[in-house]
Amino acid sequence: MSNVLIVHAHPEPKSLTSALKDLTVETLTAQGHAVQVSDLYAANWKAVADRGDFLEQKQADRLSYAVESRHAFATGTQTPDVEAEQQKLLWADAVLLSFPMWWFGMPAILKGWVDRVFAYGFAYGVGAHGGERWGDRYGEGTLSGRRAMLSVTIGGRAPHYGERGVNGRLDDLLWPIQHGMLFYPGMRVLPPFVVYQSDRLTDAEWPAVAEAYRQRIAQLFSDEPIPYRAQNGGHYDGQQVLKSGLGAGQSGTRIHLVQPGDPKEVLDGAHLAAPATRKLEVCQDS
Ligand SMILES: Cc1cc2nc3c(=O)[nH]c(=O)nc-3n(C[C@H](O)[C@H](O)[C@H](O)COP(=O)(O)OP(=O)(O)OC[C@H]3O[C@@H](n4cnc5c(N)ncnc54)[C@H](O)[C@@H]3O)c2cc1C
Repeated sequence: MSNVLIVHAHPEPKSLTSALKDLTVETLTAQGHAVQVSDLYAANWKAVADRGDFLEQKQADRLSYAVESRHAFATGTQTPDVEAEQQKLLWADAVLLSFPMWWFGMPAILKGWVDRVFAYGFAYGVGAHGGERWGDRYGEGTLSGRRAMLSVTIGGRAPHYGERGVNGRLDDLLWPIQHGMLFYPGMRVLPPFVVYQSDRLTDAEWPAVAEAYRQRIAQLFSDEPIPYRAQNGGHYDGQQVLKSGLGAGQSGTRIHLVQPGDPKEVLDGAHLAAPATRKLEVCQDS
């Protein structure tokens, strides 16, 4: 059985988004998994990243958030709330982010959770940066070996978020979260669970939504992740630019998805901390 962390961002416990979160807890617990919930509004989570995040300051005259984040992580002088969330992430085998889409992204409180918890040395600035290599990121890093998934309620209609929809493709809107925040520190990201036209959902429609979500939760550890290319898997050059010949026929962010027929990616894993020191082969056969 596995450990699952749900990071939940909705101010109303009776909301649809919160009902989905409750259903997740119920379903996973019934399956025998251990579940922890970081309910950010309930915890009155401090969303703003500022000086107050550092118990001591390395550079007193001028705040560089990244410098202080690195120092605090390395010296154990992060605030207890940040450290507790990092421990939960390390404990988890899967991480779910649960939120309503607000202004084409996540509510500020959840973004603030990422800003503060994904510290320098923990989620970024991991591994060697220099020469042909630019860190252990995008498929490698502290959170490698974990799965992640978004559960998002969305007011707009599905076609608004389709190929030619006026809002832009959902995959592109979620790209900064799924690729930039979850894949970056190493997690494998599953396709999101989405409820469109959420504001208009009726009580009569809820059972079908709940059943669809239960099925996705049941497949949390078996569904195929989105095939993002690993930075150090051989598909990018020494400047971390996709090699010519790859991504042909694709445009935008989609060039960063492994296509059938692409060379197999190989991560040597030698630079990773134990226990991920084995040879990792992350991508599909042609
Ligand atoms: C600041 C802001 C920005 C927004 N930006 C965007 C945007 O960029 N793009 C976009 O498409 N939309 C946007 N929206 C809309 C937003 O995505 C939706 O309001 C949100 O997803 C609705 O989810 P909820 O949990 O708040 O729903 P709720 O208001 O809690 O519920 C929605 C409906 O579900 C019903 N319901 C059915 N079953 C249940 C159940 N079991 N439990 C609870 N309720 C149930 C409720 O009765 C209600 O009618 C925005 C909204 C806000 C406030």
